Amino acid sequence: MRLTKFTDLALRAVMRLAVAEEGTSLTSREVAAAMDVPYSHMAKVISRLQHLGVVEARRGRSGGLALTGLGRRASVGWLVRELEGDTEVVACEGDPPCPLRAACRLRGALRDAQEAFFEALDPLVVGDLVASPTGPVLVGLGVRGPE
Ligand code: SF4
Repeated sequence: MRLTKFTDLALRAVMRLAVAEEGTSLTSREVAAAMDVPYSHMAKVISRLQHLGVVEARRGRSGGLALTGLGRRASVGWLVRELEGDTEVVACEGDPPCPLRAACRLRGALRDAQEAFFEALDPLVVGDLVASPTGPVLVGLGVRGPE
């Protein structure tokens, strides 16, 4: 099982936002810089996270991106499922489609393995991912203090 780059960037973004202190604000550009990824990629990721209700953009002088209550409470398994969508780990229906696809036991086993992967992430919330030693490292990435 390999996460898409999009999902990986989304998890990096929510982890960075999870350790943002009150009085600091981060833009999509700053999150991108902190994670050393192109702004255009991060902007799409943030847009998707906003659509899911995980991230909100606060307006005003001290505005910026922040995790929502849902973003703090939601399970990592749920978030990864939402970001990954219905994609299977193999392209049985590819071009050309696999001739075994109508009666393949391997396909079912891989689906079970994929679900087990997600279930392993279900008990975790974002806060679990930013406990030490990860959190302190994240705090030092791309912080802009109060102005
Ligand atoms: S062998 Fe089975 S799992 Fe592999 S591509 Fe074909 S249908 Fe899918």
